[in-house]
Amino acid sequence: EIDFFFPHQRTLAVIKPDAMEDHKEKILEEIHSSGFSVSQLKETVLSKEMAEEFYKEHRGKPFFEQLVELMCRGPCMMLVLTKENAVEEWRAMMGPTDPAQAKVSSPKSLRARFASDILHNSVHGASDEQHADEKIHFIFGEIDTDEKPNHDGTV
Ligand code: ADP
Ligand code: MG
Repeated sequence: EIDFFFPHQRTLAVIKPDAMEDHKEKILEEIHSSGFSVSQLKETVLSKEMAEEFYKEHRGKPFFEQLVELMCRGPCMMLVLTKENAVEEWRAMMGPTDPAQAKVSSPKSLRARFASDILHNSVHGASDEQHADEKIHFIFGEIDTDEKPNHDGTV
């Protein structure tokens, strides 16, 4: 028996506020030319509460307050990207968290070219598939209509 199999995966990508003014168009262009499909897109300003929830796994770290402040200081571009191996490919396209490192190890990456420092590093990408699903749900609500339960909880 042959099953039709689409190996597409989705990930959440964010153009962070520090890159919105000067690099948004270029980043969107590269997303498209790298073969990602954009299945959802919205520009939004996160509230402090939303930014804290979005980055909750970093709560308590020394940079948490600055990170939250950065994320809600202006609009973010939120994107659901679809491609084979999307999570890993988008992480590779972003490059390492610290642009100083990115410039050495992956000079063509977005962070190597557009980030100013380890905090203001221009883009976000989910770290794994589960994280991607959780954050997509958080930002866009339930968009996976195949799996959407009815209001009474039945499927
Ligand atoms: P990534 O975004 O590459 O997955 P992390 O999940 O470790 O990196 O961190 C989330 C975000 O927190 C980073 O993208 C960056 O904006 C910020 N950050 C991480 N480490 C530091 C640090 N040492 N100092 C300041 N900001 C940091
Ligand atoms: Mg991370």
